[in-house]
Amino acid sequence: MKYPCPKCEQPGISLKNKYRLGYMQDTHCEHCDARISANPWFLVPFSLIYMWALAICAFLYMFEGAGAMVIVYAVGAWLLIDALNVMLIPMKEMGGYGPNAT
Ligand SMILES: [Zn+2]
Repeated sequence: MKYPCPKCEQPGISLKNKYRLGYMQDTHCEHCDARISANPWFLVPFSLIYMWALAICAFLYMFEGAGAMVIVYAVGAWLLIDALNVMLIPMKEMGGYGPNAT
């Protein structure tokens, strides 16, 4: 399964590379070699959600005595956010200047 490139619209982005984009990495389209990144306007709120989930789990661990179950919650929350990250964050070509730039 591959994701369509925002430039050439061919399925040139692998799931693994799409996942990496969610961690502020970049990648290249296998078809047109465009340099692709995640849309930063979506990446910023997602970074906050990651931190928020970790903060909640750390709080429970330290103050609520929830113990080792918190680690299970943290991993579950992290995987869920990762899945949303891959599904929801749109990609864009790096170095482009607006929708009409080629
Ligand atoms: Zn492409």
